[in-house]
Amino acid sequence: MANSVFGATGTSIFESMSRLATEVKSINLGQGFPENGLEPPELIEAAVRAVRDGAHQYPPMMGLPALRQAVADNSKRWLGLDVDWEREVLITSGATEALADAFLALLEPGDEIILLEPAYDSYPTIIRRAGAKPVRVRLDPPDWALQLDRLEAAITPRTKAIVLNTPMNPIGKVFSREELRGIADLLLRHDLIAICDEVYEHLVFDGRRHETLFAFPDVRDRVVRIGSAGKTFSVTGWKVGYVTADPKLLGPIAKAHQFVTFTTPPALQSAVAYGLNLPDSYFEGLRRDMTWRRDLLVDGLRGAGYSVGDVAATYFAVVATDGLPEFGDDFALARRLTREAGVTAIPISAFYDARDVHSHIRFCFAKSADTLQEAVSRLARWRETLRWKAAS
Ligand code: PMP
Ligand code: GLN
Repeated sequence: MANSVFGATGTSIFESMSRLATEVKSINLGQGFPENGLEPPELIEAAVRAVRDGAHQYPPMMGLPALRQAVADNSKRWLGLDVDWEREVLITSGATEALADAFLALLEPGDEIILLEPAYDSYPTIIRRAGAKPVRVRLDPPDWALQLDRLEAAITPRTKAIVLNTPMNPIGKVFSREELRGIADLLLRHDLIAICDEVYEHLVFDGRRHETLFAFPDVRDRVVRIGSAGKTFSVTGWKVGYVTADPKLLGPIAKAHQFVTFTTPPALQSAVAYGLNLPDSYFEGLRRDMTWRRDLLVDGLRGAGYSVGDVAATYFAVVATDGLPEFGDDFALARRLTREAGVTAIPISAFYDARDVHSHIRFCFAKSADTLQEAVSRLARWRETLRWKAAS
């Protein structure tokens, strides 16, 4: 009865691990969302004002002018981009919708599109539903470096686009300027588009900088840049996303948007416009704040004997599974941790088409100090119990 693509698709790993966490009342460090209370109070006040005093009917299809301007201004302020908000910015219901609009609008049946694995789970399903074929190129641990020759070898005459997620979920990688230059050269050499998922652009740590392909003048008109208020303002349930692209690309994406959702709640758009215009101190504070939360989780887990990769960006840390006793795969381990330790994680195999990489599980650290400390002590205790059981 169902369409063959959705018929063959299961419930997303984020939803299923959250359901399990609720069922067994574990600490949910699986699905990526900040704990309630981390959102900026002034943003919530702006939303309350907008609901009370604002308009409640369909806003313009492209988004509220104030928000489109704010998106352009914010990218000028932080990335030096010159964006024409009237011709180059579209507001969507989350980055998820923006990605779907881009895939539906730009791909033809039979096209190939390259995904870098580990890849976020919404990409391949919508790509297939658009009739196109996702082609995977892997990044390998421990440094997850991009091997440009591997990427180029995956390009065929049918390749239309590359999806680039930087900063990258789940591994926290920030693509360097040199890596981006290499990708830009491939776009030019093979006449490709880049769909850049940059939802974690404001969550980059230790003085690193987020770099975007959109800043490279020779490929600017080949790049679709996607952002999300959910990550920048710790309001993942709001689902306000934005697309920045040359009118040649934005035009068809807006056509897809007008028949997928048409528009996004106006009060939330007003509040996000207010948020994007907050002073530098908000964005610097967000980075500082997530840095100490990262350190609390990463240092705590390392102290308890877990092998945790360095986290340059996003709000995720990946923990290697190879130092842990054999529980089957990463999926089985994540379920067992939920039930036995009372802490939920996401198995990395969910980010691989073949589900064959089980090397890591992912924890989200956008949580209160109390939650993180309790999670670390539960995970430390669980490890101790295993050791004790093994010895007895
Ligand atoms: N892309 C990536 C890499 C994500 O991690 C997420 C979800 N957190 C999204 C897109 C979706 O963002 P949104 O909630 O704005 O739809
Ligand atoms: N992006 C979130 C994550 O990586 C999940 C969003 C969702 O559940 N669709 O955890």
